[in-house]
Amino acid sequence: MNPRRLLSVLAGLVAATGLPYLVFAALSVVWDPEGSPADKRRDHRPTVSVVLPTYDEAEIVESKLQSICSWDYPMERVEVVVVDSSDDDTPEIVESFFTDRVTPSLTLIEEDERRGLAVALNEAYAAAENEVIVKTDCDSRVAADAVREAVANLADPAIGAVTGRNAEVLGGSAVERGYRDVQARIQTLESHLDSTFVFHGPFSAFERDAVVPVDDDSIADDTELALRIRRGGDRVVFDPAIRYMEAAHSEFRKRRRQKDRRAMGLVRLLWRQRDALFRPQYGLYGAVVLPFNFWATVVSPWLVAGGVAVATLAGLALAGPVGLAVPLAVYAFVLAGSRDALGDLQPVYSLFDTQVSLFRAALKLLAGEGDGTWEVDAELREAYD
Ligand code: GDP
Ligand code: MN
Repeated sequence: MNPRRLLSVLAGLVAATGLPYLVFAALSVVWDPEGSPADKRRDHRPTVSVVLPTYDEAEIVESKLQSICSWDYPMERVEVVVVDSSDDDTPEIVESFFTDRVTPSLTLIEEDERRGLAVALNEAYAAAENEVIVKTDCDSRVAADAVREAVANLADPAIGAVTGRNAEVLGGSAVERGYRDVQARIQTLESHLDSTFVFHGPFSAFERDAVVPVDDDSIADDTELALRIRRGGDRVVFDPAIRYMEAAHSEFRKRRRQKDRRAMGLVRLLWRQRDALFRPQYGLYGAVVLPFNFWATVVSPWLVAGGVAVATLAGLALAGPVGLAVPLAVYAFVLAGSRDALGDLQPVYSLFDTQVSLFRAALKLLAGEGDGTWEVDAELREAYD
């Protein structure tokens, strides 16, 4: 193909990839809402079931339980529901932690075999008895006032679920930090439009009566539950006042495993729920939020991959072997970015890193991967010892 054709194809791909972000960026120039859109009521003190799924967390589960007990919320109104599928002694540690403790109360569900996180969570949600369900992962730390902020949101009758912000990335990954800051702005805007798409494992809170089961093989369980709640009629929002901490890797190869899996969960969820796109009954969630996420998650990774391929071909056609500078430059960008060495360009790398994961996720899904169980990351858990 002639190089000018290739360059115009490339320009088209770049424009199509960037378009939703440009629309978003333009929107956020004229309209920059802050905080949660909910009508928060701070005197609301519903009973809370804290759902904690565990798989081989013997190293860190006790400190997680300790931190739950130190939350600034009346513990006599709290029940902790641990759903465990471990092969190690996590359940014994949990039980002995609650011996002689009056509040909070414990409901321990021991699965006889590991069938994946979604199955475990469906069981725990069915067993949870309180008005509000707070789901938290073992390998994260939640701010003491997070539950108070969450229930203040849920006091608004229009709101059925709320998630929070990764306020501190343990391990100091600037790649993750940059990505999370962009994501928080997008999620704030989405929430003010109607509802947000992504819900976060370290902290998500749901109105118990709005909860429905998620797919047994779900690997985006929190986001899927929020989406289903939105489809049921309630708004599901992001509140940056709800803060948590989670560890993350910076290095390219180490990031892939967790990010690729999380990406797989989102791609598959959006694909399975694509009938919700542009449905008038879902308001701006169906008209704007879901299409934006579908584009950024399912479509644009193919455009980015195509862009790199076309740019390489154009480089080869224009400059012969010197055109190999294109893939080399991409490679250098990845190397520098994964070492947090890009300075002001680091956020751009963060978005690229996400696109890489989404593309690999699509390939893995096409190859039939994604059964709902995975190896938990021991190295990331060292941050919580
Ligand atoms: P990631 O943060 O997306 O990498 O997921 P994690 O591996 O950290 O798992 C999130 C939470 O789910 C942790 O608290 C795990 O212990 C727990 N978990 C993972 N797989 C299972 C499972 O098959 N059963 C149960 N009950 N919990 C699980
Ligand atoms: Mn985790």
